[in-house]
Amino acid sequence: MRAEGIETVRRILCVFPRYTSSFGTFEYAYPLTDGVQAFMPPQGLLLIAAYLPENWPVRFIDENIRAATAEDFEWAEAVFVSGMHIQRQQMNDICRRAHAFDLAVAIGGPSVSACPDYYPSFDYLHVGEMGDATNELIARIARDPSRPEQQVVLKTADRLDMTEFPIPAYELAEIKRYFLGSIQYSSGCPYQCEFCDIPGLYGRNPRLKTPQQITAELDRLLECGITGSVYFVDDNFIGNRKAALDLLPHLIEWQKKTGYVLRFSCEATLNIAKRPEILSGMREAFFGTIFCGIETPDPVALKAMRKDHNMMVPIMEAIKTLNSFGMEVVSGIILGLDTDKPETGQHLLEFIDASQIPLLTINLLQALPQTPLWDRLKRENRLIEDEGRDSNVDFRLPYEDVVTTWRACMASAYQPAKLLQRYEYQIRETYPHRVPLPASPQRASWRNIKLGLTMLRNIFWKVGVLGSYKLEFWKFAFRRLARGEIEYLISSILVAHHLILFARDASVGQQNASNYSMRLREAAVPAE
Ligand code: SF4
Repeated sequence: MRAEGIETVRRILCVFPRYTSSFGTFEYAYPLTDGVQAFMPPQGLLLIAAYLPENWPVRFIDENIRAATAEDFEWAEAVFVSGMHIQRQQMNDICRRAHAFDLAVAIGGPSVSACPDYYPSFDYLHVGEMGDATNELIARIARDPSRPEQQVVLKTADRLDMTEFPIPAYELAEIKRYFLGSIQYSSGCPYQCEFCDIPGLYGRNPRLKTPQQITAELDRLLECGITGSVYFVDDNFIGNRKAALDLLPHLIEWQKKTGYVLRFSCEATLNIAKRPEILSGMREAFFGTIFCGIETPDPVALKAMRKDHNMMVPIMEAIKTLNSFGMEVVSGIILGLDTDKPETGQHLLEFIDASQIPLLTINLLQALPQTPLWDRLKRENRLIEDEGRDSNVDFRLPYEDVVTTWRACMASAYQPAKLLQRYEYQIRETYPHRVPLPASPQRASWRNIKLGLTMLRNIFWKVGVLGSYKLEFWKFAFRRLARGEIEYLISSILVAHHLILFARDASVGQQNASNYSMRLREAAVPAE
């Protein structure tokens, strides 16, 4: 549905802020693609864009692709911004630029919802999810688009049911410029891991769209030119297990109808390994990758962070189970926990070897506002507000030791030979369990073939000829070519290349040790 009953017409400029370089956004892979410039289409801002009154012209700009120009600001009557904590500086910068054109600027999304005081310059703060605050914001701008005399804070008390959500305005985004497509089925998570802000922000009882909404969104994404992979950005795909089971038959039917042209991935808790009925549906719907917040292989640490659900099945067994359904596991890992010891880094490397997981996002613990961790560390006087640090946590171990361990783990885990060996394992032990894909006309389209050839050419030239790990690359590539595994060659190298280059920077201190760290964000070039 859309906001209704508004007669006045307003021109709205939606601006999504730049990310600075991060482990999880794959910038180093972009030059190997056919023109990718950004990670995923932002769900929140495209959702709001779709909800605005039908007669309101909307422009959407992702500053990861191009910066908003003077002409954009001159065109607009009001500006909407949304983003996460790591984009805070860029969001404030967009606000400053919009104010130079005397435009009212509204901010919504997860960062302002958790920390309204991060955004003192904005005219409107939209706190919480889409709902009555959104209607109020639209009504106020419809009445008067000029800047209010003082900041107006609108808090959602009555959320819009997700079954009423419109399809995000994917048509406003340049979908082909994104590394992955994104889609959201549910919001919220029933667990309460100490460091996580999801239950506080979105609740413990997951809210849901209908399966029909999801297949309609997939249709729209296809119309907008999506290829490759679509990521379910749900906080936990099995937050409501029954709902996941309800959705899967619809996804399978959609895949069959459209020739299995897309591959899915999602985030879920590791106890999904106990649900073979869900896993087998996911296999048939062609889920190829699953992100699990394993966080640490140490059971004592898992208990301390209230993530006992990771131990419902022994971790290694759970990973093997997911692999046996054709799904490669991606793992979140945290260093700097109170339970860490000097040997924690070594244990992590042993875990990586044993699990054969290629991609692990290894982050230093960061206390996010509105989490139990934040409250505890505040009580213990262990929060450090120093933007020169990689974490705001006063670790139990010396800070320098923790950062050194992180750098050493990154350097070791992402040595080209080791990483490509782990991909070799996945190609041998995991991918053969995936659903056999039909030779459908959609998959074998000229556009897909051309895309594959372009990426192969880029990979051979930029990695095989100009790259810094040619020997390891060609050893891996020749095996793929000999076995006709061209798709595996492309998909593995795209990700591996990013990980290898990012980890090299990280191991010499040129990247942040936490996705949330502000240390190197200062260096971000404003998108002007
Ligand atoms: S399971 Fe994941 S989403 Fe849920 S509370 Fe824990 S970390 Fe957050």
